[in-house]
Amino acid sequence: VHELIFRGLAEKADRPALIDGITGMTITYGEFAAAVDRLGAALAERGVRKGDVIGVFAPNTPGYAITLHGILRAGAVATTANALYTAEEVAGQLTDAGAKALFTVSGFLDRATAAAKLAGITDVYVFDKADGHVSLSDLLASTAPAPSISFDTAEDLAVLPYSSGTTGRAKGVMLTHRALVANIVQTDAMMDTSNIGRVLAVLPFFHIYGMQVTLNHALAIGATVVTMPKFDLAEFLRVIAEHRTDRVYIAPPVAVALAKHPMVDSYDLSAMKVLFSGAAPLDEELAEAVHKRLGCKIKQGYGMTEMSPVSHTIPDDRDDIAIGTVGLILPNMENKVVDLATGEELGVGERGELWCNGPNVMKGYLNNPEATAATLDSDGYLHTGDVAVIDENGVVSIVDRVKELIKYKGYQVPPAELEALLLTHPQIADAAVIGVRDAEGEEVPKAFVVTQADAAMTADDVMTFVADRVAPHKKVRVVEFLDAIPKSASGKILRKDLRAREAAK
Ligand code: ATP
Ligand code: MG
Repeated sequence: VHELIFRGLAEKADRPALIDGITGMTITYGEFAAAVDRLGAALAERGVRKGDVIGVFAPNTPGYAITLHGILRAGAVATTANALYTAEEVAGQLTDAGAKALFTVSGFLDRATAAAKLAGITDVYVFDKADGHVSLSDLLASTAPAPSISFDTAEDLAVLPYSSGTTGRAKGVMLTHRALVANIVQTDAMMDTSNIGRVLAVLPFFHIYGMQVTLNHALAIGATVVTMPKFDLAEFLRVIAEHRTDRVYIAPPVAVALAKHPMVDSYDLSAMKVLFSGAAPLDEELAEAVHKRLGCKIKQGYGMTEMSPVSHTIPDDRDDIAIGTVGLILPNMENKVVDLATGEELGVGERGELWCNGPNVMKGYLNNPEATAATLDSDGYLHTGDVAVIDENGVVSIVDRVKELIKYKGYQVPPAELEALLLTHPQIADAAVIGVRDAEGEEVPKAFVVTQADAAMTADDVMTFVADRVAPHKKVRVVEFLDAIPKSASGKILRKDLRAREAAK
């Protein structure tokens, strides 16, 4: 992946590669390339060998990018941990991945050292400074020669990120150098890169979307990546205004804030040309509201950790494709929708599981041959686990996850469709739907509803509203009011938490 990122280095050496959006600290491409080489050398000097796994547990900063690429430069594999994880969760990942060392920041040291201890790791490096720990700048002082590593790009792993754990335990996803390079080139083909000067990196680099789409693609095209360690609306708006970022990658919860929050009007966001959303369903009305308010283009894409991650996006120049869809399949990929029961390919407009293949698909899940066999078939298709529809122009819409479909009397009920319908009610602020067992043991749709502050809704109001608008088998049959819907940071509804809540009753 380095060849792609440092292509044309002589030409871009003086251009800023990374800016810390909070402190303003800037690193040029020349400095970045030198730091990556030196870190690769320092790690090799300390015994890191090709194929070794090294953990990274930190928020987004320029140091993160140096660390990630320095690890790869040494021929090692980076496993990136969620910055919100507890020490036990980080330790679980480090152990599963077989990590030999860990990079972190002083602010995360309590969790990082506890995790390292549990995972039997002694080398804990920090990006900044901390007593008793070797820092990134200590490592960058190394004068050892950079190792010369030759890669079998189709076989050798570059990164080992973990899936988000939305439906169960997070899985280690084996991604090769070739898969990363392929997806950077494929997504690039859908973009108008002449318009991209500065990219805002607020999505976490530990997740494949932040790592590949925000960071690696921007580096490959010689743009400047402006980092933010976490999402905070005021800081987010300030950084866009101050650093004049023209492309901003988000997950849907940020779109909610951009559509509704009064604070948005106090900042000059005119530099932002494209706002790109992925990771979870983006509500079409909401996207329209953001577009009206800010005037920038809004595009959507779909992907998963297993596809490095993108398989579909709305190209920058295709304003005719509806924003509620995820657009077109990327070049060098194939997709089809198949019957959930038989695996037979379905036709235009028919709902089934989305299968995709291409050079960006994972090698498999780490330490989990059963899950790999159930997900990757002998034709190279990845079974995404998502229900989708492809229209006559090849435009794909994601309906729901296969695992979440409710089976009511033999009919498939997609909860996401009911959630979207519930959200159109003016008194409903948020909603989630799962299948629960009724007195006869039959699975039925249950809605969890958060009402607007001044609303006076009853369960009957909710059920009638839905019943008036859907086929009888899709009716909501149980309603519970909640203060908030459990969601991940990227806006994925944690239906597994709602199910656990039901089971505990
Ligand atoms: P796990 O596999 O551990 O349960 P996860 O699937 O949420 O977690 P990720 O790889 O981060 O882990 O997310 C991929 C999933 O996110 C997709 O399978 C899909 O369900 C959802 N997704 C991604 N982009 C979109 C989108 N634009 N619209 C709807 N859903 C999306
Ligand atoms: Mg998944």
